[in-house]
Amino acid sequence: MKKHNFSAGPCILPQSVLQKAAQAVTNFNDSGLSILEVSHRSKDIVNVMEGARELALEHLGLQNKGYKALFLQGGASLEFLMVAYNLLETKGAYMNTGTWADKAIKEAKLLGNVDVVASSKDQNFNYIPKGFTIPADADYFHCTSNNTIFGTQMQNFPDTDAALVCDMSSDIFSRVLDFTKFDLIYAGAQKNMGPAGTTLVIVKEEILGKVSRVIPSMLDYQVHISKDSMFNTPAVYPTYVSMLTLEWLKDLGGIAEIEKINNAKAALLYSEIDENPLFNGFVTNAEDRSKMNATFTLNNDDLKERFDTLWKSAGISGLNGHRSVGGYRASMYNALPLESVQVLVDVMQELKRKA
Ligand SMILES: *Cc1c(COP(=O)(O)O)cnc(C)c1O
Repeated sequence: MKKHNFSAGPCILPQSVLQKAAQAVTNFNDSGLSILEVSHRSKDIVNVMEGARELALEHLGLQNKGYKALFLQGGASLEFLMVAYNLLETKGAYMNTGTWADKAIKEAKLLGNVDVVASSKDQNFNYIPKGFTIPADADYFHCTSNNTIFGTQMQNFPDTDAALVCDMSSDIFSRVLDFTKFDLIYAGAQKNMGPAGTTLVIVKEEILGKVSRVIPSMLDYQVHISKDSMFNTPAVYPTYVSMLTLEWLKDLGGIAEIEKINNAKAALLYSEIDENPLFNGFVTNAEDRSKMNATFTLNNDDLKERFDTLWKSAGISGLNGHRSVGGYRASMYNALPLESVQVLVDVMQELKRKA
């Protein structure tokens, strides 16, 4: 039986995508060849790479607006460094909302001046800082839209003259935003788009080419753009599966439609967390709560064994919290059905009845 997969990443993918992906491993596009054993220069694969890039821009409403989409390797973690390599001249302004933002700051500091303009470290990152100022001489402002580990999510993005850079690894394609506000968006595929191994980068071309440092080829966005993400052998299979997921999303009606489902899932779970006296939400400000990753704890640790047995026997997988937060984390990415959240809520109610 298929499990209710609440894993934070790599995460659940649509069943129909997994079936097509499996088919391509044995016989890709009826070619008599596996997608794993053909040249990345072959027409079918070039079409995959182009299709994935186009679909990504189309979903975000960024076609013909000066943006380029790239599917690169090295994960979101390499983007922490690449962003600074390509954009940091005078100063990088950063918002620190948790582990991933912290790592991005660390990499940027290797290359130049970094100003942490806002942080929620004082309360173990359980809120999104507000009311901060971005220095006028900042080349860019970097933020993390959704904090996968702590379960907070930004609702508003600052208006600034600096380039707006956002790590959207764990909530890209999950909600409607004015994406034209952003100059550079990046996202590791494995949270809401595909398997691990490829990273989507969307960049407004006009912000590139302005730094004085020499950029090694593999770290240079302009090099990757000039080669259509094929400067070196790309991660064809992860990009193919990402493309299938983006097609699935398009058939469903796009981001606007998936957002409605994501809102329903989050409302269902958070209302149970709020109403059930056995549980506590980790993020206290309701407006800062992530619709992708809900973090919560049990009030009474003595119930842990009973709760863990209940959810595991209900077919739920991947619910344990990150070690820096403890408790539980329910990741409700695009492909997780509402029914899975209902199963979790039923288990939480059952625990209350039996406690
Ligand atoms: C998982 C995650 C990362 C790290 O991604 P890798 O692909 O493993 O490098 C970075 N940022 C956020 C917000 C994440 O959730």
